[in-house]
Amino acid sequence: MSDQASQTDNSNLIARSLSAVWHPCSQMKRYENYPLISVARGSGIWLYDHGKKRYLDAVSSWWVNLFGHCNPRINAALRDQLDTLEHAMLAGFTHEPVVQLSERLRDIAPQGLGHCFYASDGASATEIALKMSAHFWRNSGKPDKVQFISLENGYHGETLGALSVTDVALFRDAYGALIRQQDTVPSPDSRQAAEGESADAYALRCADALERHLQRHHALLAAFIIEPLVQGAAGMAMYHPVYLRRARQLCTEYDVHLIADEIAVGMGRTGTMFACEQAPAQHDANIKHGDKGITPDFLCLSKGITGGYLPLSVVMTRDEIYRAFYDDGMARGFLHSHSYTGNPLACRAALATLDIFAQENVLAANRVKATYLNRIAAPLREHHSVSGWRNTGMIWAFEVRSQHADFAQRCFALALEQELLLRPIGNTIYFMPPYIINEAEMDMLVDRTVHIINQLS
Ligand SMILES: *Cc1c(COP(=O)(O)O)cnc(C)c1O
Repeated sequence: MSDQASQTDNSNLIARSLSAVWHPCSQMKRYENYPLISVARGSGIWLYDHGKKRYLDAVSSWWVNLFGHCNPRINAALRDQLDTLEHAMLAGFTHEPVVQLSERLRDIAPQGLGHCFYASDGASATEIALKMSAHFWRNSGKPDKVQFISLENGYHGETLGALSVTDVALFRDAYGALIRQQDTVPSPDSRQAAEGESADAYALRCADALERHLQRHHALLAAFIIEPLVQGAAGMAMYHPVYLRRARQLCTEYDVHLIADEIAVGMGRTGTMFACEQAPAQHDANIKHGDKGITPDFLCLSKGITGGYLPLSVVMTRDEIYRAFYDDGMARGFLHSHSYTGNPLACRAALATLDIFAQENVLAANRVKATYLNRIAAPLREHHSVSGWRNTGMIWAFEVRSQHADFAQRCFALALEQELLLRPIGNTIYFMPPYIINEAEMDMLVDRTVHIINQLS
């Protein structure tokens, strides 16, 4: 195709999209001034438009992609599955991919999470965990435990139930009248520590606030839902893992479930397969290597679980909770379903993703990559407009001082000119790249981000 023909393709597709597609998380009018990108194809860390441009996917396409676009191994698994079974309902039926995936997740997840319940997206996983928790208490003779708490600035999805435990004003305010708002407790976000206060001391101070809340309200509380280690939508707020340990202890003590929403942070993103593994064994701040983490009552996974290929989410739960639903009567069962529950193609993509983890020693390779990026990032970290530099596993974030009220939009547009896909949250720029990123691509990411910040500050 000639350049001109492909440019025409680009603008045609954009015009058709703006006329027929209502894009998510968007004020559609802004697309008058800011670009919409038409993606023609993807390969590895790169997305290509219909013209001559390419973009380094530094946010893993909204935090889902782990091993690159059009990964040959996941593609091969999906082709094979496509000619075997594309879908069958999961009520009354079962199939190899969903069984294998459930067994393998049970083997690698924090100990005791023996049962997998499936849905198609993260918000549905949140809904399931909330409903299952309250229904457990009802089945256990405590029907008053129907309330939930979450962390300040937490994000657990945007359906009505998930929004009730989501504390992001932009997403919630317009729908406030539709939801039963739940209480929040202080976030251990280490940026909020007092002057001179360490991250672990601040996390423990927040855990004390959690304890006071539980003391007062536990009789009515079903569960506490948290994003372990990193609050993604809050702007990659990171906190000390000692908080997870204390939250687990307190929830057990006060008979309140702990829901770990690892939709974004699971699947290796924080440096361990699951963020919950990093909770220190003792109630002290010294994390010794090899210490075991915590087991939540519910573990929600989605996003990276299929390597970024297909919509799939899963809620894993403990045997004791599962048993409370096991009965002759239908009403005690967990009555929840989605048309595509346990879709075989999505499960197969997830199995291929787990194979790559197992065969390529991904977590160890990521540690080397993270060390490299931290080393070359000095020009960013020390930039006069940058503050709050932080890193957990394969997530990096920092704040940029800038006069521009529309910083995020401008930064997004400037990044595209630099062949980067960045999507700042407010004044926070973050990197959450696919795990296949190489050193040359990390060099490029850092160099060009410095260039963008110079233009904006
Ligand atoms: C993305 C996300 C969700 C919601 O997942 P969707 O698939 O977008 O519905 C929930 N919790 C966390 C922590 C997330 O990052």
